[in-house]
Amino acid sequence: YRKQDEIGRFIHGFDLMRNHLKKSTEQQQQYELARKQLIASISHDLRTPLASIKGYVEGLEDGIARNEEMQKKYYRVIKSKTDQLDRLIEDLFEFSKFELEQLSIEKSLVNSREFFREVFQVAQLEYQDVDLVLADPLPSVSLNIDGGRMKQVMANLIDNAVKYGGTNIVMKVERLPGFVQASIKDNGQGIDGEDLGSIFKPFFRGEKSRSRESGGTGLGLAIVKYIIEAHGGEIRAESHPGKGSEFVFTLPMYVK
Ligand code: ADP
Repeated sequence: YRKQDEIGRFIHGFDLMRNHLKKSTEQQQQYELARKQLIASISHDLRTPLASIKGYVEGLEDGIARNEEMQKKYYRVIKSKTDQLDRLIEDLFEFSKFELEQLSIEKSLVNSREFFREVFQVAQLEYQDVDLVLADPLPSVSLNIDGGRMKQVMANLIDNAVKYGGTNIVMKVERLPGFVQASIKDNGQGIDGEDLGSIFKPFFRGEKSRSRESGGTGLGLAIVKYIIEAHGGEIRAESHPGKGSEFVFTLPMYVK
């Protein structure tokens, strides 16, 4: 019996090791696949606006744009496509800093009420055609955050809410035990159920967003998630397709 026990244990140990090895090669393969998809996706996103710029420049050279009005139109398209490339490269640069863990988060103490009120006021100035509401009351607690980075997070979430069809956007901040929880709710197009699990992944863009050519990069929410997590918080999204989306995140309160 002793002998059999020993053999049993040996086989069990061997199984464990084999499973472990299998898992790590699977992980490695998944990682490799994700990396290849990432490169394919970057190349595609860089090439599309470039091809278009090239086409319009050639059009101008060949004199296809006959009158001044048409030429102006061509220049406008070229400008908009270069802007798109610029945004993509800027996002890529930001994103790579996270990947390389080189992004610095410089925290300082701020008051949550002052911080969110300022974010709201800036957004109100920027989106005057949108009904932007700040729910009362704003909790007043200390947060130890990188104000600039967190403003970037809020700007990104509000920008998406508008970009994806929101005309009525509600920003709410609540106090939970140990945390503040902020949410941005819109009445836009919403996010399809099958997309919801992927929106925080780098380069992921919803089917509708891709076809709409809204000029996004699919990096915004990945960067947002990095920043929130670097502050010890969490972010999630909820959505009712056709009715709107809500993004909810937490930030730990500062304790001495
Ligand atoms: P981008 O906006 O550049 O496509 P993001 O990372 O900001 O990239 O968003 C990823 C995807 O998540 C978008 O393509 C879109 O499909 C979806 N999404 C994000 N925010 C919203 C929103 N407020 N309403 C609907 N869909 C959204």
